[in-house]
Amino acid sequence: MDIKQVQLRSYFEKERERLAEKLRQMEDENFSKDDREGNAFSKITEAADGSAEMEKGAAFKQTFKDRLSGVEHTLRKLDEGTYGICDGCRQAIDPARLEALLEASLCRKCVDLQKKQSRWTTQAMNYLATNATGKQ
Ligand SMILES: [Zn+2]
Repeated sequence: MDIKQVQLRSYFEKERERLAEKLRQMEDENFSKDDREGNAFSKITEAADGSAEMEKGAAFKQTFKDRLSGVEHTLRKLDEGTYGICDGCRQAIDPARLEALLEASLCRKCVDLQKKQSRWTTQAMNYLATNATGKQ
């Protein structure tokens, strides 16, 4: 493993820590909200917040979860020695693209392809989910 990869690893390990910590904090906030459930005042403020606020919070949390799984995936790739290799076509990812997006796991070509396919990919994923054959 070269110097650059060592630096990348420590960067992503810190990033994983940071994101995991952030998610823990979000969980804690949810818990303390539950604790206040019996409090009349908090009931009023929560009613005022409305469900839109809660949805925003959930979407926010999901963003962190997605980012965390992206970071974990990158760390796995560093472990396997496949960092900088496209998950789709197994070709080297353009260094300029990697420079701009350190956790890129797909080359531009495959990202474009994925965008085009995303319409039916969703259907295919649903199909796989309901007809779980498992990974090979
Ligand atoms: Zn590719």
